[in-house]
Amino acid sequence: MLQWSERYDLHGHSTHSDGELSVSKLAQRIKDEGVEVWALTDHDVISGWKEASEEAKLRGMRFIPGVEITCIPGLPAEKTILEKEGRDRSTTSWHLLAYFPHHQPNTDSATIDVFSDWLEPFAEGRIGRMKRMVEKINELGMEITFEDVMARSSGAIGRPHLAKEMIEKGYADSVQQVFDEWLGDGCPAHVEKRKPSIIEAVNAVHAAGGICSLAHPIYYGIETNNLLSYIKNAGVDAVEAFHRSHPDKYRIELWKGAQKLGLKVTCGSDYHGPSYQARPGHMPVPSSSLPKQII
Ligand SMILES: [Zn+2]
Ligand SMILES: [Zn+2]
Repeated sequence: MLQWSERYDLHGHSTHSDGELSVSKLAQRIKDEGVEVWALTDHDVISGWKEASEEAKLRGMRFIPGVEITCIPGLPAEKTILEKEGRDRSTTSWHLLAYFPHHQPNTDSATIDVFSDWLEPFAEGRIGRMKRMVEKINELGMEITFEDVMARSSGAIGRPHLAKEMIEKGYADSVQQVFDEWLGDGCPAHVEKRKPSIIEAVNAVHAAGGICSLAHPIYYGIETNNLLSYIKNAGVDAVEAFHRSHPDKYRIELWKGAQKLGLKVTCGSDYHGPSYQARPGHMPVPSSSLPKQII
């Protein structure tokens, strides 16, 4: 019997990357929405794991250590798909979710240490990149300091932190406007970030005993069969078919396609905080299609 479940939320961000809520506030929000299995997946950092596992335990939730790794696109976007979606350019990165269901963040693990060392330069790349983006913003005549932007994050720094600083200084009205005019891919203050290939990331995650799911494929502009065969060949274990931004039809298309290839699926609200979305959780998923380590 096929069981749909709303117990899982396997994608979300805290102040360790570009989320608005601290780990403990986020854990409470997650709990309030009825989630029982929670993965924290900050961008390119695992610094929130220990606290998150404790906060989850306090609230009787199961915690799965996760991270969302920014990778080089596995395939170039397809023109016909972009046109169909009314877009003129594609994103410059693919996001790979990694999960370590068997890892206890309060115990030492040599394999996780190796993974953490592998990941670190990609997170550090964010700081160098932020410095260069602030310089470009300064050159465009806006007075923003790197220190003020950094003060907005307790972990990985990202473009939303800079956007918020620009709003506070009166240079823009919304995060969306900042991305559209200055920081988005291809815009005047955008700076490329150093990233691994999908295959390199998959290998690093598997070596540490983790599993991978390709995040929100709707943004990549790839036809579903092409996308799924690529990730199957690359060794990715699952696809995030049930992402908040996916229309129902696309969720089902990915889920059916994944089943045909023997791929698993994951679900996630990708919650970044109250100014982005009303609430986390409420992500129905056919639980038998989740990776077995997560069920
Ligand atoms: Zn993402
Ligand atoms: Zn995300």
